[in-house]
Amino acid sequence: MLLTNNLGYPRVGAFRELKKANEAYWAKKISAEELLAVGQKIREGNWKTQQEAGIDLIPSNDFSFYDQVLDLSLTVGNIPTQYQSLLKKDDKGYNLDLYYAMARGFQQDGVDVTALEMTKWFDTNYHYIVPEFVKDQTFTLTSEKSINEYNEAKNLGIETKPVLLGPITYLLIGKEKEAGFNRIDLIDKLVPVYEAILSKLAAAGAKYIQLDEPYLALDITAETRALYARVYEKLAAAAKDVKLIVATYFEALKDNEETAVNLPIHALHIDLVRGPQQLDTLLAKVPASLTLSLGVVEGRNIWKNDYEKSLQQIQKAVDTLGKDRVWVAPSSSLLHVPFDLENEDNEESLPKAVKNWLAFAKQKLAEVKDLAILAEGDVSTLTAERFEANKAAAEDRRTSTLIHKPEVKDRTANITDDDATRTSPFAARKDAQQTLFNLPAFPTTTIGSFPQTKDVRKWRADLKKGLITQAQYDKEIAEETERTIRLQEQLDIDVLVHGEFERNDMVEYFGEQLAGYAFTKNGWVQSYGSRCVKPPVIYGDVYRPADMTVRWSSFAQTLTNRPVKGMLTGPVTILQWSFVRNDQPRETTTYQIALAILDEVQALEKAGIKIIQIDEPAIREGLPLRKSDQQAYLDWAVRAFRVSSSNVADDTQIHTHMCYSEFNDIIEDIAAMDADVITIETSRSQMELLDAFAADFKYPNDIGPGVYDIHSPRVPSTEEMVELLRKAKAVVPAEQLWVNPDCGLKTRAWPETKAALESMVEAAKILRAE
Ligand code: GLN
Ligand code: ZN
Repeated sequence: MLLTNNLGYPRVGAFRELKKANEAYWAKKISAEELLAVGQKIREGNWKTQQEAGIDLIPSNDFSFYDQVLDLSLTVGNIPTQYQSLLKKDDKGYNLDLYYAMARGFQQDGVDVTALEMTKWFDTNYHYIVPEFVKDQTFTLTSEKSINEYNEAKNLGIETKPVLLGPITYLLIGKEKEAGFNRIDLIDKLVPVYEAILSKLAAAGAKYIQLDEPYLALDITAETRALYARVYEKLAAAAKDVKLIVATYFEALKDNEETAVNLPIHALHIDLVRGPQQLDTLLAKVPASLTLSLGVVEGRNIWKNDYEKSLQQIQKAVDTLGKDRVWVAPSSSLLHVPFDLENEDNEESLPKAVKNWLAFAKQKLAEVKDLAILAEGDVSTLTAERFEANKAAAEDRRTSTLIHKPEVKDRTANITDDDATRTSPFAARKDAQQTLFNLPAFPTTTIGSFPQTKDVRKWRADLKKGLITQAQYDKEIAEETERTIRLQEQLDIDVLVHGEFERNDMVEYFGEQLAGYAFTKNGWVQSYGSRCVKPPVIYGDVYRPADMTVRWSSFAQTLTNRPVKGMLTGPVTILQWSFVRNDQPRETTTYQIALAILDEVQALEKAGIKIIQIDEPAIREGLPLRKSDQQAYLDWAVRAFRVSSSNVADDTQIHTHMCYSEFNDIIEDIAAMDADVITIETSRSQMELLDAFAADFKYPNDIGPGVYDIHSPRVPSTEEMVELLRKAKAVVPAEQLWVNPDCGLKTRAWPETKAALESMVEAAKILRAE
């Protein structure tokens, strides 16, 4: 009997219930009890959905109020000293004050702590809270969340499979907070806590436990491979009769195959979407004791599964292992796809034809179940019908005229090196730009968005619902923009922005205006904490039918004599934060978008916008996880950015912006993008990130290292920012430095925004005077 196995389910709620509850709780509008109840309801709903879909192995502890890695840090008692005063020793559950202090910072009752660092979860757009380790780190079982949630499901009559991030991956995704040790050497202190959790889960009655070890599918050393064998020997012993599952995803196992199949575990989960070729080699190696969980239904994208192809893979595995040792599963946790396609009913934005090619989390559960039934060979009429419908949808997509536009394909195929090169080198451009703008040293700017208040969001919602007219909406946006321009003048910021009030999201806004795109109403995916994004869907060849941003940028420019920066999202980020076609290479889609952005850049330039920022925060996250694949990606990603930004006058200043990335390993590629100014996130790492820009390879163009963290409501002092700028000045020549926040301000409220920017400008002035 083929079992169906699910790795994890989206947890913000089909209508972002968790986001709303979290924000209400932080604003002190609901109590802790009310927040906990929302979480409980989401978990119960998710479990029941999976049970009804016929999933055999239903995950628990995949739920999180903010981040599953932070949950684990609390579970194992990895609580940095500055937060320890918030630890309630008797609270074995969520420890909410402590939890949110670590996630978001805390400024109250004499406690003033910043948030922990956050970074991208492998190559996804999900961000986790980075665990920090010190030399004499200790671990103790501090939260019993995983056990509580297992029991909670059990009390509802649902048997679940608790999910935990495995100990080796947990250490590897963290960072050392001091020198003199290697965090992986903490493993022997960490394992006992895992052993304790496993025995508690066993005592509670758990039959299966899933330990996620995505690092097993990455480049690791021989020592780490040996560690896997040693650590899982211990964990298997502690788990006793509980069947351990190790889950790998986002890549193929490759050189770690031997290690993985020989772990003393019950089942190994593999990602057959990212690594289809590994099935053959693995089947030849799998020992008789091991079950394989086949990740055939894509957990990272929203296309319907190709049943014929998946069944071939499943059949191959069944032929070698037998039905009892093959499970059918999504490739990864479904955290990265939206909840339910059935909540989409807007035909204008998501045409029926396109909808018929898609599957969201709930539909993917059904696909997993269909495949298991079909592979059994025991096909009921219903499943046979679904098989036929699946084939018909695939055929429709292959031949649809909605998708293919010959003019776009031609233009993309004919891009030359000239199209990807600025007329003059940076030094000459800098002179021309300085002549035009005459900016002071340490010029100040922001990253683009200003607070998206309730009012701003309400205008947009009201316009959509037809409660206000386009003219009324435009008037509100114009007034908000004008207020923001005036404020920036008052604050004495040098390069202004219009504030992005007309934008819902930096990718969706463009998706809505580009051809080849569809978009959803409720297709939310968690980005970090309470922040969700609604990635648009690229289903066809992309082009730009009309101006996208010229109107609001040039309106803002008419209000002021200071330069207003045009604001665009770059081709790689648009690609990376969209659900992308799987019927052509990512590279081809990116070049199509690059040409569309170029058209917009040139339209802005023509309208007199001479500073244009093309945000590329997602360049780093698009990097393939395996070293051997990375350079090829960087080459086309950088070239696509250059295609979007090169065909402009020397005195047009191109900015780019990136956040949440380690740059050390790709600094030369970032330099090759040749933006005149790059603004980056650095404050959470105390300017550590800047080291990359000043190492052996000297970053040649201008840099704005973020001087304060915009993800926290905490207002930084002028002194803190002066300190950070001095640090920056020590590694990067002062002439190259700009002063700006870490990222856009859309999630902040006005009072803290004004206060922080005021201090920021003051800090810049102090630096100018030094
Ligand atoms: N211009 C965007 C903003 O300010 C950039 C956001 C980002 O980099 N994530 O919101
Ligand atoms: Zn940013």
